[in-house]
Amino acid sequence: MDAPVAVDAVAFEGSEVWFLTGSQGLYGEETLQQVASQSQRVATALDEAGEVPVRVVWKPVLKDAGAIRRAMGEANEDPACLGVITWMHTFSPAKMWIPGLDALRKPLLHLHTQADAALPWATIDMDFMNLNQAAHGDREYGFMLTRLRVPRTTVAGHVSNPAVRARVGSWARAAAGAAAARGLKLARFGDNMRNVAVTEGDKVEAEIRFGMSVNTWGVNDLVEVVDAVPDKAVDALIEEYGDLYEWDADVAPGGGKHEAVRYQARIEAGLRSFLEDGGFGAFTTNFEDLGGLRQLPGLAVQRLMADGYGFGGEGDWKTSALTRVLKVAGAGLPGGTSFMEDYTYDLASDRPKILGAHMLEVCPTIAGERPRVEVHPLGIGGREDPARLVFTAAPAPGLTVGWCDLGDRFRWVANEIDVVEPSEPLPNLPVARAVWEPRPDFATATEGWLSAGGPHHTVLTTQLGADELTDLADVFSTELVLIDAGTTRRSLAKELRWSAAYHRLAQGI
Ligand code: MN
Repeated sequence: MDAPVAVDAVAFEGSEVWFLTGSQGLYGEETLQQVASQSQRVATALDEAGEVPVRVVWKPVLKDAGAIRRAMGEANEDPACLGVITWMHTFSPAKMWIPGLDALRKPLLHLHTQADAALPWATIDMDFMNLNQAAHGDREYGFMLTRLRVPRTTVAGHVSNPAVRARVGSWARAAAGAAAARGLKLARFGDNMRNVAVTEGDKVEAEIRFGMSVNTWGVNDLVEVVDAVPDKAVDALIEEYGDLYEWDADVAPGGGKHEAVRYQARIEAGLRSFLEDGGFGAFTTNFEDLGGLRQLPGLAVQRLMADGYGFGGEGDWKTSALTRVLKVAGAGLPGGTSFMEDYTYDLASDRPKILGAHMLEVCPTIAGERPRVEVHPLGIGGREDPARLVFTAAPAPGLTVGWCDLGDRFRWVANEIDVVEPSEPLPNLPVARAVWEPRPDFATATEGWLSAGGPHHTVLTTQLGADELTDLADVFSTELVLIDAGTTRRSLAKELRWSAAYHRLAQGI
C-alpha cells in the first residue's frame, strides 16, 4: 500500500481474506474431500455476503504443521491478503498449529461454525459426528490461540445468520484498517503546536506497534509546490467547487473574495501532488508554522480528507493517522469520518449536547447538506482570510475516537454518540460543525472521557461502530476504553484500574 487510494468501495478492490480449514490425516480421503467441499461452501457464503466487503478466498484444507506454517507465511507475504479466517471443521490437533500461529503477522478471525445449521436428528450416525465436530475441534484450537496469546476475533454461529456475516464483515474492515496503518506514510508540515501536551507522542513506538511512518517536512517544501501550481489546475478546481458547493456572489468567480478561494484551490492542488508524489496517506498542519503560505489550509484540507486522506490540526499526527485508518475501514459505508474537536457545550437541556468543530478542517463526508464555500477572517495564525466549507453534520449514530500516549503505552478512548440536529440555527458560526449527544449521558460520558485522559482532538465517524474499533484495537494489542450506553461511573473507574494493571503486565519488563 504505497500510494494512498481513494477511499470508497474501490479501496477494497484486490483485497482479500483467506479461509483456512483445519483437519488432519486421520479421517481418510473420503472424509477429507467432504471437509474440502463443505468448507468451500462456507467460504463461498461469506464471499457472497454483502456484509463482507472483501473477497473471501478458500485455501486447501490444512492437515499438518508444515502446510499450516506455509499457509501463514504466504498470508504474511501476500499484499492482497488482509488477514485469515480459520475454522476447524474436524479435529485438528493444535500442537500442529504452533509454528504457523507463531509466524502469523496478520489479523486472525476464529470462525466457530458448522457446515449446516440444522442437526439431522433422524439420520445422525458416527460418520456425521466425526465430520461435524467443530464443537470440540474449535475448542482444541481456541485453547492453543489462548495459550500462545494470539490476538484474534472469535465469531460463533452459522454463516446463514446475518449477525455472523456482519461480524465477519466488521473484522474484515478492521483488517483493512490495520493494513492501512501498516502501510501508512504520514507527512507533518511543521511540528506540534507549542506547549500542547496531548498531541505529542512516541513516533518510534507508533512505527513499531502500528507500522506507520511519521516524518516532518519543512512547510516551505510544500509552499514551493503550491506556488508552482499552474493556473489552469486552479481553474479546474474552481469549476468543480461551483458544481459541488454553494457560494455567495462575493465568493463566486468575479466576487470580491474570490481570490481567497483561488488561493485555497492552489493549496489543494499543491498539497495533493505533494502527498501523491511521496505516497502519503495522511498529513498534519500547524497554524503556528505556515512559512510562505498565505492562508491556513482550510477548504484544501477538507477536500483532501473527503478523498480519504487522514488529517490532524496543530501537528496532531496521531489523530491524523487514526482518521486515515478509520476512513479505510469504513470505506463504502453510509455516513462519514472526520477530524473533530470537542469545542463547546449546550448544558441547558435535559440532554446536554456537544458542539464539535475546528478552526476550519472538518471533513464534508459527514455533511447533512450541500456545503457552502465561505471566506472569513481567522483570529489566529496572522494570515489572510482563509476559504473553508461550512455545513452541519448529518444526524446519525456514531463514535468519537481519541488517541493518547500515556508514556508507557498508547490508549484509544472512544465514545458512542448520536449526532443530532442543532437545537437552533447557527447563522454566525463560520465553520463546519457537528452536534451530538454522548452515550450513556453527558455527565457519565464526559467524566469518563476526562478520567481516561482522552484528548480534545478526535475522529468522528458515523460509518463504524464498536465492533470494528474493538477488532482494530485487538489486532494491535492496544488499549481501548469504550464509553457506551452500558457504561456507568463505577464500571469505568474499575475498568481503568484493571486495564492499567493488565497493560503493564502484558507488555512485560
Ligand atoms: Mn485543534
